[in-house]
Amino acid sequence: MEEKFDAAIVGGGPAGISAACILAKRGAKVIVIERGEYPGAKNMFGGVLYGRALGRIIPDYAQKNCPIERNIVESRVSYLSEEGSISFSYRDQAFFEKLQNNAFTVGRAKFDRWFADQAKGFGALLVCSTVVTDLMKDGAGRVIGVKTDRAEGEVRAKVVLLADGVNSPLAAKTGFRPEARPGQIALAVKELIGLPEEVIDERFGVSGANGVTNEILGSVTGGMNGVAFVYTNRRSVSIGIGANLADLARQRVRPYEMLERLKLHPAIEPLIKDGKPLEYLAHWVPEGGYDSVPKLFGDGFLIAGDSAMLFNALHREGSNLAMTSGRLAAETILEALGKGDLSSATLKGYSERMKESFVLKDLKTYRRFSSLLETHGELFSTLPKGASEALRQILTVDETPKKARRQTAWEALRGRVGLFRLLRLVFDAWRAV
Ligand SMILES: Cc1cc2nc3c(=O)[nH]c(=O)nc-3n(C[C@H](O)[C@H](O)[C@H](O)COP(=O)(O)OP(=O)(O)OC[C@H]3O[C@@H](n4cnc5c(N)ncnc54)[C@H](O)[C@@H]3O)c2cc1C
Repeated sequence: MEEKFDAAIVGGGPAGISAACILAKRGAKVIVIERGEYPGAKNMFGGVLYGRALGRIIPDYAQKNCPIERNIVESRVSYLSEEGSISFSYRDQAFFEKLQNNAFTVGRAKFDRWFADQAKGFGALLVCSTVVTDLMKDGAGRVIGVKTDRAEGEVRAKVVLLADGVNSPLAAKTGFRPEARPGQIALAVKELIGLPEEVIDERFGVSGANGVTNEILGSVTGGMNGVAFVYTNRRSVSIGIGANLADLARQRVRPYEMLERLKLHPAIEPLIKDGKPLEYLAHWVPEGGYDSVPKLFGDGFLIAGDSAMLFNALHREGSNLAMTSGRLAAETILEALGKGDLSSATLKGYSERMKESFVLKDLKTYRRFSSLLETHGELFSTLPKGASEALRQILTVDETPKKARRQTAWEALRGRVGLFRLLRLVFDAWRAV
């Protein structure tokens, strides 16, 4: 391609398309290169998007028919043992009324396509079924474009935004992002289970376009550091589970085995009973936190979204971090284009914007969270069992005096996790979150 662009964006996911919208809206000549047949064709995630981050890019997204499945009005957290489930749930009328669209579920195949259409509407050029294979550099090492797998597929641009997601051979090849360690990556699998709308409404206690998220921890990952989820869509339920790559390799467990175990758990099985499997997908999740974030810019390039390891593992937020980083990268590019200086001296403004934003602030706040999960394996093995046994003791009604029941409950817990370990966990958890 002879034409020279102001910006070439690698990847048509939330980060890349956010940047493309902002750039194209302001008149920049921008190209998005996506390896999928269409944006979203190869993408998957749990399913929750955040209205604030999207609204900063497309303020009237609801009027523009954003393919929202259900608004989230209730968030549940469940801690599962083999047989039991301890749950905490929060439902608030504000999420039905004034905070509508705070968080909502979408399917990536529909959403990414819709989002990319908005960017095209603003004037961005989208090229699909094309893989960026390398970056082009000048003699001084400045990035001046990208190479693709198409014949004569070199694309010259004043600046390149890498928004190619976590599983990026390009990042490793270019050396701009050090290859992630297995301990910093989780492998997640997800199944989409079709159910009639009224069955979902009844099972999750919602109606209309309202929905529920359920984040799940405990023994479902078979002692491995990981989490699971169940989210409601309009006519389907997303159920998924992921575990740290290092743990999966150590235990030689196949991800679909974890998913099957989750689906059979007594607290989960009734939610998906008689459902029809529609889709099965697997994807990596960057869980290394703040310390795994690479340098975000250089001469002629920037890195955004999962490619920059931006994922909040505690709150399970990634799409909003991707969109915000894409937006801030685009604002920096616009400033640099205005100055006519695309060197790292100007592009470092992106790093400064990111430091000022919730994205890096949150990752910094929770920088110890990954190591908390890594060092406290009891969270996924003995603690759920001990907690479940303790609660069973407390809730069993017979003629035993309550004081004795409390003592037995405490012994059940301590029998699974020693006192020192429990105290250490409380201390480390307090420091991490
Ligand atoms: C199981 C799972 C559940 C999740 N749940 C949630 C959730 O509920 N809420 C949430 O906010 N986040 C969630 N996340 C995280 C969220 O999906 C990511 O943080 C977000 O998608 C990152 O967006 P991105 O644009 O940076 O990368 P991606 O969404 O990965 O997009 C990258 C794009 O680049 C393209 N690409 C890659 N390489 C090339 C190349 N060489 N050439 C051309 N194109 C290329 C890909 O095809 C893709 O379209 C979840 C992730 C997983 C895996």
